[in-house]
Amino acid sequence: MQTYSGGCHCGRVRFEVTGVLDRISDCNCSICSKAGYLHWMIEPSQLKMLTPWESLSTYVWGTRAARHYFCPVCGVAVLRKPRSQPDKISVNARCVDRIDLAKVSLGHTDGRSFSLPQD
Ligand SMILES: [Zn+2]
Repeated sequence: MQTYSGGCHCGRVRFEVTGVLDRISDCNCSICSKAGYLHWMIEPSQLKMLTPWESLSTYVWGTRAARHYFCPVCGVAVLRKPRSQPDKISVNARCVDRIDLAKVSLGHTDGRSFSLPQD
């Protein structure tokens, strides 16, 4: 267990995550592929927001089941509440400070094929 700090590019959005960063996943869905988002799935209790959630901008579309949080100033996507696992939070591993992503196991999520029954 370790506490990682992270945030957006301009520094307006800052957070800490306590956990083990041993697995990340890229996703081929329409937004992750364009944003270059790398998912680190955590429990909400592992996340400590140093910037209030209300200060982040939110993007939702389609079923509105997924919420995408990004910095309103620099536009960097930092956190998600994923549609596939609504009880979890996805941290953009690219926004975690001082880590070597090349040393973290990288998986692949087929988000493009994922759909909920009500879609
Ligand atoms: Zn920013």
